[in-house]
Amino acid sequence: MATTSSFIYNMYKDKNTVVKESIKLAKVSGKNIAASLMFADRDSANSILRPILNDKNVHSIKIYDNQGRLFTTIGNITIQLNNWIADEFVNYPEVSISTSWDYIDILTSITHAGENIGYLQIISNTNAIKKHIIEQIFVSLTIVLFTFVIIFILAFWFEKIFSKPLYDLLNAMRQIKNDPASDIYLPSHTKDEFHELYTEFNRMTNEIKKRDNILKEHNIDLKKLVSSTNEELKKTKSNLNEVSILATTDPLTNLSNRRNTMDQFDLLIKDAQKEDKPLGVIMLDIDHFKQVNDNLGHQAGDIVLKNVAQHLLENARDNDVVGRIGGEEFLILCQHADMDTTYKVAERIRHNVEQQIISYEKDKSTQVTISMGLCSTIPALNTKEELIKIVDDALYKAKRTGRNKVIKGFVV
Ligand code: GH3
Ligand code: MG
Ligand code: MG
Repeated sequence: MATTSSFIYNMYKDKNTVVKESIKLAKVSGKNIAASLMFADRDSANSILRPILNDKNVHSIKIYDNQGRLFTTIGNITIQLNNWIADEFVNYPEVSISTSWDYIDILTSITHAGENIGYLQIISNTNAIKKHIIEQIFVSLTIVLFTFVIIFILAFWFEKIFSKPLYDLLNAMRQIKNDPASDIYLPSHTKDEFHELYTEFNRMTNEIKKRDNILKEHNIDLKKLVSSTNEELKKTKSNLNEVSILATTDPLTNLSNRRNTMDQFDLLIKDAQKEDKPLGVIMLDIDHFKQVNDNLGHQAGDIVLKNVAQHLLENARDNDVVGRIGGEEFLILCQHADMDTTYKVAERIRHNVEQQIISYEKDKSTQVTISMGLCSTIPALNTKEELIKIVDDALYKAKRTGRNKVIKGFVV
């Protein structure tokens, strides 16, 4: 925009200079040829005016008499001056000036002793102005082009010196962020600040990689340790389970053993006391079991023991504790069972055992009966030992009075 304005201004300035020069020339020339015109001496006029054509701006010169008739023409006469635009030149009222894109036409009067004796017309071409403008455009374009080249070179240089190294660094940092173990090395071919930055960055990534490797190794060791510790824990737990089962279970019948049964007894007494509910206690013993061993063999005796134990479990209630407390003696603890309920449970078991045909060998079977002593009481009143004594006495009574029966024991 500024360049265009500058071109227009320069063109206007150049044109004004040519106009001013032409006016001066016309005035001087008009005086010089006044005598030639008066005497109608064309040759003299021509020879006076011809040197003016040496001026590179002057195209042709014409002289008219005071009637406006053409007196003489010097220079190129083929020019058509139609459609010229007349400009108003306030500074030169006695001069008529017309300009077009290609020509500048100056018409001034020739006077002698104050009287108009004719007219002098100088037609200048604008080639010099145009040439000057074209030169200016060319120079401007060259400057613009040169500026662009410089900017391009600078941009390229800046890109190479600043942007690319920064971009490479940014990319490398992103890569490290995504994968700290990635193999990244930033090569530096310069000795500037970027060289120091890259060197520091490479040292840092190396350090990260080293630490990552150490962490990985430690992690592997830790995992191994955790897994072996877990294994150990599992083994210990299973051993503990086994020990606990061994410690609380009778190995032959899988019922609660004597010690565990007594511990459970203590707990159930405490619960019953707390809840003020009755606790049913049944003690039972297989009748004439010695004979089973003696007649059928110890192995058959074991099978009978297991069979009776299984029956006790099946006929007791879910929360009842069933334990083997001696060779062929068992204890059943019935939570919240009053005398009636305890008796019913005992009687059912006794009846089922009596009915049971126990096969101890192929095609060989036997049957056993059991004697039972029981009681039910609110244990706040009695200790475990007292309760055991009561049921033991009742059981003894059952044995003495014919076996295969249930005898109730009562708190005295
Ligand atoms: P009662 O009717 O008076 O109870 O007579 P009984 O024969 O059942 O009583 P006794 O106390 O005389 O005999 C108990 C027998 O139980 C003696 C013992 O050999 C046997 N016994 C104890 N524990 C086991 C065992 O684990 N397996 C086998 N097979 N027999 C056992
Ligand atoms: Mg017995
Ligand atoms: Mg016995």
